[in-house]
Amino acid sequence: MPDAAPPVDAALLDALMTEVSRFGATPEGGLNRPALTAEHGQARDWLCATLRERGYAVSVDAIGNVFGVLDLAGPDAPLIMSGSHLDSQPMGGRFDGAYGVVAALAAIEAVRARLDPGAARCNFAVADWMNEEGARFQPSLLGSGVFGGEHTLDFALARRDGAGLTVAEELARTGYRGADAAPDPSAYIEMHIECGPELEKAGRAIGPFARYWGALKIRAAMIGEQAHTGPTAMALRRDALLGAAYVIAGLREMADTASGTLYTSVGRLEVTPNSPNIVPGRATMFIELRSPEPETLAAAEAALERLLPTAAAKAGIGFEVISIDRRPAGRFDPRLVDLAETEAAALGLSTMRLDTIGGHDAIPVGRRCPAIVVAVPCRGGVCHNAAEFAEAADLLNGANVLAGMLWRVNAAGGALDAA
Ligand SMILES: [Zn+2]
Repeated sequence: MPDAAPPVDAALLDALMTEVSRFGATPEGGLNRPALTAEHGQARDWLCATLRERGYAVSVDAIGNVFGVLDLAGPDAPLIMSGSHLDSQPMGGRFDGAYGVVAALAAIEAVRARLDPGAARCNFAVADWMNEEGARFQPSLLGSGVFGGEHTLDFALARRDGAGLTVAEELARTGYRGADAAPDPSAYIEMHIECGPELEKAGRAIGPFARYWGALKIRAAMIGEQAHTGPTAMALRRDALLGAAYVIAGLREMADTASGTLYTSVGRLEVTPNSPNIVPGRATMFIELRSPEPETLAAAEAALERLLPTAAAKAGIGFEVISIDRRPAGRFDPRLVDLAETEAAALGLSTMRLDTIGGHDAIPVGRRCPAIVVAVPCRGGVCHNAAEFAEAADLLNGANVLAGMLWRVNAAGGALDAA
């Protein structure tokens, strides 16, 4: 078996990008293709037809994830999966998501073209995850979240858009309410434009994401007592907004003194009754804590648990925690990070390890199998915008790295430690 990674057909990658960009194309050169709209359905119909033409077995699971499996090594061989998502933000760009899906197909085709008969030790799959963006249906990463076990199927099917339509209804309407079992990959590699400026700034070609940031979104209310701002003696005031002020200042201090990287904020504050001459009776804070390090985030949560009662006591009031939404921080598989760097080096491409603060399908998929996102540069870091742009040469570099990674994992029989 030749050791060199198979080159991706540049014309094929280019043609696939051009074709998939037709569905939901906007005059500004972007895309309007939110999940389970007619345009999204058309893009998925095109993908399924393209996969079938090339001999892939297409399946759709119950939450509408689309898979195309290329069986080269028999039913018992490990399955290596690559993909991303074909939905876009409203008036979004052409590359976010779509690139990862077509790069997967182009790279698998390159591996297939180069493999000697009998040298296939793995099977390969293209994945198109349903509702990555979370623009029309919340939360984001819905299809990959069900796949990874973060959400139940019933929860996901019952999500409603702004008009009250459910995911279940819209899957059925667009023809993607599937009944197939999802394939079971032994590794997942996702190509994506960076959606940030670091690669471009540093002049690097390939950016494996090593870590993803976690977030803790907490809604908490300080509870005082509404009173007249004139005659009420200072000693008798139970000012909810004063308590919130102590929390806000304390959060800033937490970030400034954290042992790791910690971002904190109160981005929204609801003051009741919000009148100039009433001591506020209630102040609801929308608190966010973000960090790339799970231990920093856990320490910040513990510190917040101390801060809330301390701030309330200092203001002479009470408090309540209304809701907590936890998104854990973590690491992508270090063997896949190494493999991306090895392949890039073999191709003479410069690399840079990155963090992702935003979400990607590879995060929930990573709960089931080793996973990674590998980024390529995009102009100015612009994303979720019609002006989103990536050079064809950069897209090809990324697809070549992917093909090389697939090639090496195949040669190792799916064992990442040996790849
Ligand atoms: Zn994306």
